[in-house]
Amino acid sequence: MSIKVENITKVYGSQKALNNISFEINRPEIVGFLGPNGAGKSTMMKILTTYINPTSGDAEVNGHHILTDTKNVQKSVGYLPEHNPLYLEQYVREYLSFNANVYNVDKSRIEEVIMLTGLTPEAHKTIGQLSKGYRQRVGLANALLHNPEVLILDEPTTGLDPNQLIDIRNLIKNLGKDKTVFLSTHIMQEVEAMCDRVIIINKGEIVANKKLKDLRDGQAQIVIVEFDYRVEDAFLLRLPNAKKVKNTHDFIYEITFETSEDMRSHVFDFAHDNQLKILQLNQKNASLESLFRELTS
Ligand code: ADP
Ligand code: MG
Repeated sequence: MSIKVENITKVYGSQKALNNISFEINRPEIVGFLGPNGAGKSTMMKILTTYINPTSGDAEVNGHHILTDTKNVQKSVGYLPEHNPLYLEQYVREYLSFNANVYNVDKSRIEEVIMLTGLTPEAHKTIGQLSKGYRQRVGLANALLHNPEVLILDEPTTGLDPNQLIDIRNLIKNLGKDKTVFLSTHIMQEVEAMCDRVIIINKGEIVANKKLKDLRDGQAQIVIVEFDYRVEDAFLLRLPNAKKVKNTHDFIYEITFETSEDMRSHVFDFAHDNQLKILQLNQKNASLESLFRELTS
């Protein structure tokens, strides 16, 4: 077990930010911690990284107790905090080498994490000269310096543009192949794109803990497609397993399919056969969205 949380409660003054939370995470696994703002995500992550103590309850990271074995917990986790605090006037290598010293990590590791996070072309700049996407990479590189088994990433993709978003998502997915990744987000598509499992938190309580695969199996899929021209709903309903069509905007359609199969290639072939041009094509999990709405609104 990589992360084991047992009955954690955190009270700030008169406010209960976490109320008796328990869950477990294995390695390797990418788990999305999903919840609206103020749900308690960052609080949970700060507790797991030993930045703050819980009011009651206990947790283990990589077999080490957060209260009694703080040093080993810190050795086991790489943490990207919510606002990724960086010194803007420092050079990328300077920043990483400062932290390598703190962690007592061999200097050769700096070039390794620069490569791993795709920072090479920007590594000669100061952090202040980097785009938000590259700053996130610096934060990730920093979290990876001591090659931790567990990565705790607090909203790693917030504020990134669509290209940066895809890059960082791919990076995290790759890291998740042999590490435990626990990442928070308030964006459902994020969970869809990256995670094996989702834990949904609302007002300090866990309201769902499910494998994405189980959510998908036997559930409806929604494909969002944009054509270059108007298409009749009835025409789109000819697609196999199509149950509902909703024209959400100009030439954008949400097609609900009653199947767990990914229907995007069918939509693509259908468009091709009917001389329609596709401008965008996305899939979303109807069940995750309805689950989230139902549990957090
Ligand atoms: P999330 O990361 O899900 O947005 P947080 O864990 O940051 O949520 O916050 C959970 C709740 O605890 C919020 O209502 C927030 O205002 C409150 N909170 C967080 N940190 C503190 C603090 N240091 N002092 C008082 N209240 C806090
Ligand atoms: Mg937060």
